[in-house]
Amino acid sequence: MNHDTPTTGRPDVVVVGAGLAGLYALHRFRARGLTVRVIEAGPDIGGTWYWNAYPGARCDVESMDYSYSFSPELDQDWTWSELYPAQPEILRYIHHVADRFDLRRDITLDTRVESAAYDEERGRWSVGLSHGGTLDAQFVVFATGSLSAPLDPPFEGFETFGGEWYQTSRWPRHDVSFDGKRVAVVGTGSSGVQSIPVIAQAASEVTVFQRTPNFSIPARNRPLTADEVAARKSVYPQHRQAQRDSPSGVTVDVNPRSAHSYDADEAQAEMRRRWEFGGAPIFNVAFVDTMTDVAANTLLADFVRDRIRETVDDPATAELLVPTDHPIAAKRLCCDTNYFATYNQEHVRLVSVRENPIRRIVPQGVELADGTTYEVDTIVYAVGYDALSGALGRIDIRGRGGRRLDQVWRDSDGPTTYLGLGVHGFPNMFTVTGPGSPAVLAVMTVAIEQHVEWIDECLGYLAEHGLGVIEATDVAQKEWTDRVEEIVQGTVFPLATNSYYSGANVAGKWRRIPLWAAGQKSYRDICAEVARRGYEGFSLEPAPARATEPAGAVDVPVAGR
Ligand code: FAD
Ligand code: NAP
Repeated sequence: MNHDTPTTGRPDVVVVGAGLAGLYALHRFRARGLTVRVIEAGPDIGGTWYWNAYPGARCDVESMDYSYSFSPELDQDWTWSELYPAQPEILRYIHHVADRFDLRRDITLDTRVESAAYDEERGRWSVGLSHGGTLDAQFVVFATGSLSAPLDPPFEGFETFGGEWYQTSRWPRHDVSFDGKRVAVVGTGSSGVQSIPVIAQAASEVTVFQRTPNFSIPARNRPLTADEVAARKSVYPQHRQAQRDSPSGVTVDVNPRSAHSYDADEAQAEMRRRWEFGGAPIFNVAFVDTMTDVAANTLLADFVRDRIRETVDDPATAELLVPTDHPIAAKRLCCDTNYFATYNQEHVRLVSVRENPIRRIVPQGVELADGTTYEVDTIVYAVGYDALSGALGRIDIRGRGGRRLDQVWRDSDGPTTYLGLGVHGFPNMFTVTGPGSPAVLAVMTVAIEQHVEWIDECLGYLAEHGLGVIEATDVAQKEWTDRVEEIVQGTVFPLATNSYYSGANVAGKWRRIPLWAAGQKSYRDICAEVARRGYEGFSLEPAPARATEPAGAVDVPVAGR
């Protein structure tokens, strides 16, 4: 491996993205003695937690679970203030980690990776940067995120709007005031559900444009007490292990019983207990068969539908808010603070755009298909992402024979990967939480650590065995993709026909759910077994003789702060 200094443009590894995944990858690879350059498109580190600074943005996993577990000292030293941390606190934590582990010096900010091309003769990647530079690296690790390619406002004329407009996924750093403003919010996924109640606290009028209602569970967020924090810290290592051993990365009480084993009153009591406890993670595991049995799922869904009708005063508004087109948790279950109750306020109105869609944005506001125009001062778009593969698709990634990754995945009508870690035809390339892994179905800090550690150990194995090229085999990739598909078909996920899980929210995108739906623990065990068997399913070769020849790489500025 090449151990030039980080600014020569010939690092061992280029990591794309400086979110939680990229930062941990840098830390691990550097500890192994590799030279690493992290390239981040944004002006700051943090990824999701940098970009999504919208009002109300917070995690829907408990703070003491949604954090790195790799450093017991970090776990002891950092103290979270709330059960569910808000975006600013998570970003502060990420900055603390970057400082503590001296990560910034190897991160280049404000720079997009535009292209990455594999040079078969040299077994190295040529990584093209937005300012014109090129890095020459043996390995490229895409830590580009599952939810990092935002969708633009999908309406004709959006740039003609006369007021201010914002996207939750690209929130500006300056103060945004809604005081006394008439505000439109488009989108009622997790971002809309979180931001609407907070925007309504300041705005004089809020109009929510809803195409599809979503299930949402009250977070019941609150400050953490000193005793709670101390109690967790006293058992943190064991707790972290329990997270890794759990189905989705949280140690919530997963009910081992089928919904069918309860009588009606007992089932209501079980769901009520979880509803009162709060949070999505505990609610969607109310029964063991919630995600695999339509009747069990309907029981849970009906419970939430009843709570919506109970909470919302106006029966017509309540009916509009009741989800009917998908099983509960088949689309990401939202987690809220006062979402449904917000519609009881006089100045908040809900407009269904299901039958009467938004036709265009005009200078005064939002115009619907029937010609009705809602005049507003500000529009907030919470319209989601080109998820799972979107960030990768926006980069010109070329593997063997110059084949473009995006095209390969289009040709196979969806991402085909081995373990969501490697792709046949794209040697020495890894994806963190890539399609084909549990990704967004797991607590992502847990999923990220598992992937980064697996990749790191794999790089160590290659070095120890005098190997320089690793590539998923075609056979292993096909088998894995089929297995992922088979498992997902045994769940209720495919019944949600307009979910971003399946690519259905992006016109012309594939229709497949490339997510390992059998739990992160089973996935983790499979990955460990693959490694134990000498990276079964990957072909391993020594580096080509020409690997050390220069490729004319140029320096990049170090813009870490
Ligand atoms: P990201 O944080 O998305 O970072 C990827 C980085 O790569 C970004 O900074 C991006 O700018 C950069 N990048 C992408 N393409 C390029 C390129 N071509 N060149 C250079 N840089 C590039 N997960 C949970 O488990 N629990 C939650 O409660 C939760 N809440 C969320 C709330 C919101 C609003 C969103 C959007 C996501 C949430 N997630 C949650 C998922 C969240 O994305 C992950 O938990 C985690 O932060 C992902 O980290 P990452 O480093 O993999 O990706
Ligand atoms: P999303 O779940 O994809 O929601 C997008 C919303 O925009 C949907 O309501 C969608 O309606 C609507 N929309 C899109 N195009 C529209 C159009 N042309 N007209 C009207 N409405 C339109 O995106 P998100 O809310 O940003 O959340 C994405 C993911 O990020 C979440 O699922 C979650 O994984 C993560 N996240 C988590 C949290 C958290 O609680 N911690 C918070 C925010 C985000 P349709 O449903 O009809 O398409």
